Amino acid sequence: GPLLAIESSCDDTACAILSPKGDILAERVLSQTGHAALGGVVPEIAARAHLAALPSLMDDTLTDAGLTLDDIAAYAASTGPGLIGGLIVGSTFAKGIAIARDKPFIAVNHIEAHALTARLPALSGETPAFPYLLLLVSGGHCQCVAVRGIGHYEKLGGTIDDAAGEAFDKVAKLLGLGWPGGPALEKLARKGNPSAVTLPRPLLGRPGCDFSFSGLKTAVARHIAPYGQAALPLQVAADIAASFQRCVADIMADRAENAYTAIPDATALVVAGGVAANTELRTRLEAVAERHALRFIAPPLRLCTDNAVMVGWAALETLSARHDAGYGPSDDVPVAPRPRWPLTEIQPPGPVQP
Ligand code: ATP
Ligand code: FE
Repeated sequence: GPLLAIESSCDDTACAILSPKGDILAERVLSQTGHAALGGVVPEIAARAHLAALPSLMDDTLTDAGLTLDDIAAYAASTGPGLIGGLIVGSTFAKGIAIARDKPFIAVNHIEAHALTARLPALSGETPAFPYLLLLVSGGHCQCVAVRGIGHYEKLGGTIDDAAGEAFDKVAKLLGLGWPGGPALEKLARKGNPSAVTLPRPLLGRPGCDFSFSGLKTAVARHIAPYGQAALPLQVAADIAASFQRCVADIMADRAENAYTAIPDATALVVAGGVAANTELRTRLEAVAERHALRFIAPPLRLCTDNAVMVGWAALETLSARHDAGYGPSDDVPVAPRPRWPLTEIQPPGPVQP
């Protein structure tokens, strides 16, 4: 029977129902809007909002699918990494129903879910074979991963300061744009000249796949300072936005090149996370993929940002990998939510360890 999945690790409350093969039967995402006025996600407010939203969100998702809880054969939720309050709310909700209905619960690593989205049957084209490269660029994450198999992930690099989306948001704030800043900055950048402002490109040309954005943000602040934010001429703001965006794209392309050098047998380059919405970034990464005859996969944006479809899919992949390894569906109810849960600490399919 179908599997019901919950996502609540940050500020999006999401529920999805997938068929055992991974077809999407229904999906809903509720984005918490109250945080914009506060300039960022407030963990305690987010946790309470997840709790308030989940019951009706699940009912609506079941209605969309034309199903009731009686039809659901398994439950899944993100149990980390993320904001602990939201993780506790979402995973306890799913565990509770699973226990009450005597069905298995599968604990899902949120990053693993992003990493496996590229294999969703709903995406067009063939399923990418292992290994493939993942560039995960969102508000909270910025890492380069070699996806070698279910439960087998190698982190090739990560940010040593800000995440890419965080950098977009901070620079947008310096420019006087709203939060989240990425989309507004991209819009402004269309009116600017990407070579107008010289900005540092931290780590560019260095080996490895690490990222660093804080020096870049400081450089932007230095360009704005002589004017003062309120008196910043529109053209200067647009030039800064365009130059910043070009700079981030240069860094990403350079890091993707190095990832390919590290894993030359990769079959595809996958980009995920909210920053993957950025057109210049997509174009540049696509060019890197093309140069090395790698498939380029950028899932549709609703599956790139936080959603429950990816959580359900990762749970199904985990279930089949456990089956192939000779273990039953097993039950992850004892698995506790973890605010930090690096990909490298994911248990390969096998007996569950609390
Ligand atoms: P998590 O890190 O847990 O995945 P999140 O909510 O921080 O969660 P996403 O929803 O995946 O991350 O992405 C949001 C981020 O993406 C924000 O930082 C936002 O500014 C950035 N972003 C969205 N659209 C664009 C764009 N067009 N260009 C650049 N950045 C963008
Ligand atoms: Fe995420």
